[in-house]
Amino acid sequence: MDVYRDQLAAFDPDIFSFIAAEERRQSAGIELIPSENYTYPEVLSALGSVLTNKYSEGYPGRRYYGGQENTDAIENVARERACALFRAQHANVQPLSGSPMNQAVYFGLLAPGDTILAMDLSHGGHLTHGAPVSHMGKVFNFVRYKTEPDGSIDYDRVMELAKANRPKLVLAGHSSYPREYDYAAFRRIADAVGARAMADISHLGGLVAANVLANPLDAGFDVVTTTTHKSLRGPRGGLILCSAELAKTIDSAVFPGLQGGPHMNQVAAAAITFKKAMEAQFLSYARQVLANARTLAGALAAGGAQLVTGGTDNHLMVVNTVESFGLDGRQAEETLDRIGVTVNRQIVPDDQRPPLRPSGIRLGTPASTTRGMVEGDMELLAGWMISALQAPEDTAQLADLHKQVSEFCRQFAVPGVEQS
Ligand SMILES: *Cc1c(COP(=O)(O)O)cnc(C)c1O
Repeated sequence: MDVYRDQLAAFDPDIFSFIAAEERRQSAGIELIPSENYTYPEVLSALGSVLTNKYSEGYPGRRYYGGQENTDAIENVARERACALFRAQHANVQPLSGSPMNQAVYFGLLAPGDTILAMDLSHGGHLTHGAPVSHMGKVFNFVRYKTEPDGSIDYDRVMELAKANRPKLVLAGHSSYPREYDYAAFRRIADAVGARAMADISHLGGLVAANVLANPLDAGFDVVTTTTHKSLRGPRGGLILCSAELAKTIDSAVFPGLQGGPHMNQVAAAAITFKKAMEAQFLSYARQVLANARTLAGALAAGGAQLVTGGTDNHLMVVNTVESFGLDGRQAEETLDRIGVTVNRQIVPDDQRPPLRPSGIRLGTPASTTRGMVEGDMELLAGWMISALQAPEDTAQLADLHKQVSEFCRQFAVPGVEQS
């Protein structure tokens, strides 16, 4: 690895210096964006391997190019591990990322114009769940369910919506909903209208793999999708899990339906990630992610932050910064940036403000937990955040807080980055 680093530094000092600067940035601050994580050194090694040279369109045993003895073995291991980890009958490990993964499922199971029942974007749904700006929102007819004012989902109302709109697919999943789902209720709703049930657990993949959150496959879901780079801590990529009955449909929807050659370096890195997720250490990690999130939410609330739904059952939380501190999400994000804490601005349910200046921020604990932070660290962190958000104009205090955050971060190594 180091040999290649030296070669890169010599050949392209511009790009090399940006990578080195990004390593410093990732080490110097606290990462609270709930969809981000620090992957394993083993994954970085596989991603940077010669597997990136290989074309392997098709599936193990049925490829359209020669020389597949190693790629077939790798993809088989990745599929077997994914099935074992999630108790699935079939796994497709080829989606290049989360968005093509969901597109492949929609095109595999549905025809253009068909109806999908999915969570409203401002209530926690993802862009790929039919946002009008997405191509999927134009190709399929999305009908949206919302959360109640207390943040719960009223499954009777979702059932009514389903009966009124007769979707072919009922989609459970989110990228910013802090509560647990009742997957059995979604399954009943799908059954009542003869629809397939799909869950997109992109954010929760690692927590479901570790069995600290419910697995929708246990509730009889037909298809489950997840990214591999969020709480799972692997390479950027997507994973589709499904019943044996749907295996062929899903596989041909990914290739040749949507994608060409898979990225075999990413598939190998995903296989390594699944092996990591089977270890006892990963279970402790997943438990700590949840414990940290509960502590962070509690400490923020005690400091005057208003949390959407009042708290969290998973790894993330949404703070209404307008109501709590009189700051919109962009101002709050920028204030926290100045003390070395990275979050993202976030719309809240039925937000009346524009997406670039929404009413809140979203934060989560997968990345900070990977660095080894525990409950006491979350309390410190909440204190610094509250101080900053209460006095965003106090430059001297912000500078002082930034210093404290930087010193604090030196105790926690970033996997794959040499400590300086
Ligand atoms: C992150 C996410 C995706 C998309 O993943 P990309 O890799 O960014 O394309 C899809 N669905 C949900 C719920 C997500 O959170």
